Amino acid sequence: MALAMKPACERCGNGLAMDGEGSVCSFECTFCRGCAGDLMQCCPNCGGELATRPRRATGPKRA
Ligand SMILES: [Zn+2]
Ligand SMILES: [Zn+2]
Repeated sequence: MALAMKPACERCGNGLAMDGEGSVCSFECTFCRGCAGDLMQCCPNCGGELATRPRRATGPKRA
């Protein structure tokens, strides 16, 4: 299973562009960069470390 790419920050609800910057923990909690900074790169849900989400490679379809 590929890592799920959630469309919005779980903390503030701001949308996250699929090819934009975001942070995820190892359990796929997803946060925007601003919240990740506020949270000191530590997931509030599971205590995992937040890592910068890799940008999705440019695929064959872009809407
Ligand atoms: Zn946020
Ligand atoms: Zn988490």
